[in-house]
Amino acid sequence: MGSAAIASSSSPLINKNDLRLSSFSSSSQSIKIPKRRGSREIVAVMAPPQSRPPSTTGSVKTGMTMTEKILARASERSQLNPGENVWVNVDILMTHDVCGPGTIGIFKKEFGENAKVWDREKIVIIPDHYIFTSDERANRNVDTLREFCMEQNIKYFYDIKDLGNFKANPDYKGVCHVALAQEGHCRPGEVLLGTDSHTCNAGAFGQFATGVGNTDAGFVMGAGKLLLKVPPTLRFVMDGEMPNGLLAKDLILQIIGEITVSGATYKSMEFVGSTVESLTMEERMTLCNMVVEAGGKNGVIPADNTTFQYLEDKTSVGFEPVYSDGQARFLSEYRFDVSKMEPLVAKPHSPDNRALARECKDVKIDRVYIGSCTGGKTEDFFAAARVFLASGKKVKVPTFLVPATQKVWMDIYSLPVPESGGKTCSQIFEEAGCDVPASPSCGACLGGPRDTYARMNEPQVCVSTTNRNFPGRMGHKEGQIYLASPYTAAASALTGFVTDPREFLQ
Ligand code: SF4
Repeated sequence: MGSAAIASSSSPLINKNDLRLSSFSSSSQSIKIPKRRGSREIVAVMAPPQSRPPSTTGSVKTGMTMTEKILARASERSQLNPGENVWVNVDILMTHDVCGPGTIGIFKKEFGENAKVWDREKIVIIPDHYIFTSDERANRNVDTLREFCMEQNIKYFYDIKDLGNFKANPDYKGVCHVALAQEGHCRPGEVLLGTDSHTCNAGAFGQFATGVGNTDAGFVMGAGKLLLKVPPTLRFVMDGEMPNGLLAKDLILQIIGEITVSGATYKSMEFVGSTVESLTMEERMTLCNMVVEAGGKNGVIPADNTTFQYLEDKTSVGFEPVYSDGQARFLSEYRFDVSKMEPLVAKPHSPDNRALARECKDVKIDRVYIGSCTGGKTEDFFAAARVFLASGKKVKVPTFLVPATQKVWMDIYSLPVPESGGKTCSQIFEEAGCDVPASPSCGACLGGPRDTYARMNEPQVCVSTTNRNFPGRMGHKEGQIYLASPYTAAASALTGFVTDPREFLQ
């Protein structure tokens, strides 16, 4: 859910191309990276310059980035430049129980009480935020969505009626961003807008995906298009093998730590490189999910065979991926040697307050939370289970598990964890003494009503796989949240302190 970027006093990573548009060249350039205050050991991740040809289809001669090309096609233009304002045709509009009622209100006010939405098959409505609560206003929001979807005959409404048993609601999914992917609404080359800042998650599929406010969404609901300013693109080249104990969460915490929470404000963030290519779709989602924590307009990863295989059984809708041209203009380029990276956390109270997990080993914690669109996917729980399995120990602090969606919940209970002798995540979690996996939803990621499962109602210290650690984010304004990967979260649960997962993973 949305929140404004926080200003930071940290020095952003500076690139020689920064602050001006320059034609990108694949030839090697020496890039000097000044040290960021308080990150002595982390700057070593910058890789030696390499000569890498940018991804390209070779079929377009206009020298545009992926984001520019997607927006050009969606606005029926042959050429676009950053800073231009264009009317963009929208492929999918998503809204949820928090912003949906407001969006619907604006749509009715501006288009008329009896107006019809622009396309009943291109609007996806997903109750997910404040679901398992007795809060009447929250429940009423879901009722409002239901009434509207019936009135408009909306094709994709993932409803929940029986709050006592989510499994009695086969249509119910859970967290919108993960549900969008699992239900085949994320497709390369398309434009997806959502009334939630982490809509950028879907950039993992090589599409333009960004969060919009209720007013814009209400307009899209009626018109199917939106006036958008074309963002310039920052390019992040990540090469090298992922070291033991590292996950995509560490990669994005590394980047945000470098460029700060305002370093990509209204910019596209394109991720390429051998490391990115090696990531699964769920890990790519983790990377794109948090671009908004750097102020990014969208994140994007070129679609490849991993993308196409993921989509194979999820959508029958045709799509056409696009790729950055060889002469595309990037505002700046950042290179990382991932093989030199170590597990990270973002300390309270900002996602760019980066530190090595091992530097925080004296931070005593009260609880661990594994969940959300960032860290509550099937592979996130597999990662946590791997740490618990490797240790053979029990957790020392309450450990809350909130699957993002109903499918993730089922995976936890049914899929065998590799090299576990056939055990499921749920068995491993039970043996480790974790709380029973909760009903899928946003849960306590953004606090929610007071009766929300695992909400921080006390000023505690939490290691969390979520994406924001602003004061009050998970419930209590004096709570302290350390953002971390599922590996680091599980390792921390086992010791009761912020812990580098390599202590358990050999
Ligand atoms: S899980 Fe958290 S970040 Fe993701 S959509 Fe829900 S509230 Fe927002």
